[in-house]
Amino acid sequence: MKITFLGTSTVVPAAGHETACAIVNGRYLIDTGWNAAIGMKSDGYDPMLLDAVFLTHCHHDHYIGLPHLFFHMCMRASERPDRPPLKVIGPEEDVQRVVDLSLALLQPERFDAVAYAPDVIPMAPGDTYSDDAVHVTTCRTVHPVASLCYRFTDTQSGASLAYTGDTAYHAPIAEHAAGVGLLVTEASYGGSAAPADNASLHSGAPEAARLANAAGAERLALVHCPEEKQNDAVVAARRDFRNSFIPEDGETVELAG
Ligand SMILES: [Zn+2]
Ligand SMILES: [Zn+2]
Repeated sequence: MKITFLGTSTVVPAAGHETACAIVNGRYLIDTGWNAAIGMKSDGYDPMLLDAVFLTHCHHDHYIGLPHLFFHMCMRASERPDRPPLKVIGPEEDVQRVVDLSLALLQPERFDAVAYAPDVIPMAPGDTYSDDAVHVTTCRTVHPVASLCYRFTDTQSGASLAYTGDTAYHAPIAEHAAGVGLLVTEASYGGSAAPADNASLHSGAPEAARLANAAGAERLALVHCPEEKQNDAVVAARRDFRNSFIPEDGETVELAG
């Protein structure tokens, strides 16, 4: 199993960067970045080969690329008329609404070429998704909107990774991610721990490292960290969890079973 970090930035990425989003095995996109449909092409992936998009939650920086992706699929529909509809998987509270809004932005009532019908799959914590290649399980994370951590297991090799999306520290995530080869979580506060009130329910590198230790993960990737705080974040994370890193945009990590 392999994961490519299309973007690792926080809400508004700097020039040449992308908001946190990743692609697993070239088939599963986790969050959409600002424009993952175009970004994945520069990393050698074809949006037309995507099976599913997994939205960790429906804050703008995680779904704002969805209309681009639908538009892309429509503009290239003639290349693969037999292509099954893209699956859009996300928290049951919000996923249908952001899909409907994304489709509405394309104005299909005015432009026939952009009539698109994705396959929306609302998920609650504990729900699962399986196909010929992966088994995906979910657990709740702690953020101001409904949010899910996805654990991907490659059914052939047994390799596994967990991608938490945005979250405050929440011990049950570690149980869900127990023994993964790679834990991908956020460090919005850089090298500092979350402030006491933590109204926005994010984490810093110290909580990320704590989560990786509690899960017994092999490696920890920190994403959603402001560029100017990345150095501090990786230093702070390594104090408690040695195998921590901040991926480069476009970096691929291969996971063995
Ligand atoms: Zn968020
Ligand atoms: Zn975010």
